Amino acid sequence: MKTDVKFNYLVDRFADIQVLRYQVPGFEDLTLSQKLLIYNLTKAAEEGRDILFDQNCRYNLLVRGALERMYMMDGMDKSSDDYNAFLTYMKQVLFANGIHHHYGCEKFTPAFSKEWFKQQYSKLDAESKNVLENLNSNIGEAKTAEETLLKVIFDPMVAPKRVNQADGEDLVKTSACNYYLNVSQQDAEAFYNAMKDENDTTPPSFGMNSRLVKKDGMIYEEVWKVGGKYSDKIEKIVYWLEQAKPYAENAKQKDVIETLVEFYKTGDLKTFDEYSIKWVGDTDSRVDFVNGFIETYGDPLDMKASWESIVNFKNIEATRRTQILSENAQWFEDHSPVSSEFKKKEVKGVSAKVITMAFLGGDCYPATPIGINLPNANWIRQIHGSKSVTIENITNAYDKAAQGNGFAEEFMLSDEEIERSKKYAYIADNLHTDLHECLGHGSGQLQPGVSREALKAYGSTIEEARADLFGLYYTADSKILELGLLPAKDAYKAEYYSYIMNGLLTQLIRIKPGDVIEEAHMRNRALIARWAYEKGKKDNVIELVKKDGKTYVKINNYKELRKLFGVLLAEVQRIRSVGDYEAAKRLVEDYGVQIDPDLHNEVLERYRKLNLSPYKGFVNPVYELVKDENGNTVDVKVTYGEDFLHQQLRYDGFLK
Ligand code: ZN
Repeated sequence: MKTDVKFNYLVDRFADIQVLRYQVPGFEDLTLSQKLLIYNLTKAAEEGRDILFDQNCRYNLLVRGALERMYMMDGMDKSSDDYNAFLTYMKQVLFANGIHHHYGCEKFTPAFSKEWFKQQYSKLDAESKNVLENLNSNIGEAKTAEETLLKVIFDPMVAPKRVNQADGEDLVKTSACNYYLNVSQQDAEAFYNAMKDENDTTPPSFGMNSRLVKKDGMIYEEVWKVGGKYSDKIEKIVYWLEQAKPYAENAKQKDVIETLVEFYKTGDLKTFDEYSIKWVGDTDSRVDFVNGFIETYGDPLDMKASWESIVNFKNIEATRRTQILSENAQWFEDHSPVSSEFKKKEVKGVSAKVITMAFLGGDCYPATPIGINLPNANWIRQIHGSKSVTIENITNAYDKAAQGNGFAEEFMLSDEEIERSKKYAYIADNLHTDLHECLGHGSGQLQPGVSREALKAYGSTIEEARADLFGLYYTADSKILELGLLPAKDAYKAEYYSYIMNGLLTQLIRIKPGDVIEEAHMRNRALIARWAYEKGKKDNVIELVKKDGKTYVKINNYKELRKLFGVLLAEVQRIRSVGDYEAAKRLVEDYGVQIDPDLHNEVLERYRKLNLSPYKGFVNPVYELVKDENGNTVDVKVTYGEDFLHQQLRYDGFLK
């Protein structure tokens, strides 16, 4: 991969966030038609931004609108500490696509004073205030915009949590996300249970593209579609998809775009499934994209999908690696430690590729996944397979930005682990991600009659654990060496060490003192690492050792650790296959949620001294059409210079 060695990866830093930029190597070598396809798809990816802000919380567009207008106005007091705190808060809101932390889900606490905010707000011109009053009346509360803002920004009791996963509470009522209005968890579950047909082997993803509302005793869905909720934004998305269509690389891809447009126009979930099946089937195109309501992490009931988009193209060189995995998919399925009744007899269509990311939008921006495995509908995955990708230019940017920051030296036990990590961590971690995405999520099967939602709030954590364990188990397999996917017998140890260290210690840097673990991926990592630690105690597989008052992970027996991963993989697959809710709950609650406060404080303190940021995200490159003297488009130019705030304000129409 051709990357510029002097490329400046760091863009901005604030609160617990580091914003990076990524390169798009190989873009110049695409055909003009492919470049124009990408260009128009990036435009479509920009248009869903407001949908996501509104989905995350109904106050978000008002808060964002106020902050940006205040920032842009003349006469803003820029000399005080309050202003600096305001700037940090605004960047936090923009980064998180709303007033809650993108990962932890807790509401941000402003460090500027209420008085200062009121003073600045009063300086807004009449037109700005008008826009804000309109946004406020959309929320439907009989208050002025200013009153709503003061309440939402400064009162910690109002909308404290975007997604609440605390067992035993009404998860719908206590979550601030905007997928339900005046509805209880019981209402929502009853509403969607009534739609389910146990005999339907190809069930639509009920509830995926709507808000559920209760009004005058009636419960109904506000569907997100042209002519429905978010119509103005969806019409723009459709416009750009239509612009992209003439540049489709083949008839299949054209059909994919047309079916997606059809879905946006009708909101029909059957059409969405049809689109997903066609999308999985398009494996020949170099350029690919996701645009729609996809992931359900933002809904405590795991049904409603947040809007996201990515635009990418195949990295041909690196794809060879994942092709080897998918060609051997059946071997991996057959040899896994999972009980044979829960295995797929025939693993179908695991299409795996490495992509170069060209653009991130909606829920993939600025914080982004490093791997993608879609579609989510279980029956489509079983019958038609899934598409799975690793995003190498993003992983590469993370890796480059992390080199030499002192993290490994602080948290790894000895030079042995540090040296091994320098040599193998990047390649072993990429392989683990490939295994997780290409094979892990696609492996195994549900018993007949078991629904995808059977594990309820524990479903996401168990699913991530399943994919991670599949990857961990096989990273250490001799088959991997045989296939030439790792360079040395010991390389897997780099991944094992960093995984356990992360699950037991270092991921705690992302959590505030006193809080528990809530996010599904983090719960999964804690679950796996702590379970392995506990179960391996009698054979001393993993130790927590103290050196100068600091806690370190020591792995005494890597072979035994691999066996433990295999045992847990078999159990997690059983839980998912039979829909064993009680076992899922026990596993997650016993190992994935609670934190030892002393250890937590120690890790936070050590991390604080390193002066690093636990969360990272990206700005997008800028794509511009290049015209000749007759006005014909002759090229698309990509540049990387834009900073974080400029990009945000440009997307929202305040800057060019
Ligand atoms: Zn996953």
